[in-house]
Amino acid sequence: MEKVYEGKAKIVYKTEDPDKYILYFKDTATAFDATKRAEVEGKGELNNNISSLIFQLLEERGIRTHFIRKLSSREMLVWRAKRFELEVVVRNISAGSLCKRLGIEEGKPLEKPLVEFFYKNDELHDPLVCYDHIILLGLLKEEQIHEIKHITFRVNEILREFFSQHGLILVDFKLEFGQLPDGSLAVVDEVSPDTCRLWDAKTGEKLDKDRFRFDLGDLLEGYRKVLEKLQG
Ligand code: 5GP
Repeated sequence: MEKVYEGKAKIVYKTEDPDKYILYFKDTATAFDATKRAEVEGKGELNNNISSLIFQLLEERGIRTHFIRKLSSREMLVWRAKRFELEVVVRNISAGSLCKRLGIEEGKPLEKPLVEFFYKNDELHDPLVCYDHIILLGLLKEEQIHEIKHITFRVNEILREFFSQHGLILVDFKLEFGQLPDGSLAVVDEVSPDTCRLWDAKTGEKLDKDRFRFDLGDLLEGYRKVLEKLQG
């Protein structure tokens, strides 16, 4: 298969249909601008499983995504999308870069969900950008910013409820957006413990990529627990 793009965690391949691509989930784990890196056998499979499950749920709830179907243990069939160079982060509880940047203690529930935009640019280390920066850089048009924010809040409502029903707290997560061949805005990339902070609702155990970032425990064990809970 012809490779379109290879990222840190996934490879995108062409298919016979020019409007459809295959996402291949790798076992590579990276953090801190890929200065920390490891091969974790089985991570790709778990993330493909979890992402497929979540995209399916979002589609059922009327959110447009690039997901078509899960093809194999590590492969997902998706619509070709023109990806925006932007990461959209939603936070329900303080953690990560929010605490570091603003001096807030970890674990504080936020009065209302907070949405932040980051410019996806490795050389600049994905800086936080405001509304006017997004326009200045030509990353999105004004109406697209509003539409993306609206979709993001809705995705947060759906996922918060879903994870909560399965004994998980959705602390924060990152979404990426793109434009599908028919022009519609859609959630692209993946939604998995690589891109979400998920805490066990009973024990508070961190079950996401923070395990790898901060050596908190076996990465796969956390991701496996997430999948088991979601399937349970
Ligand atoms: P923070 O800004 O606190 O580092 O991240 C907020 C949330 O977005 C976390 O759930 C984190 O996993 C996710 N996130 C932010 N940037 C990235 C990124 O570049 N890659 C991945 N996989 N997740 C990210």
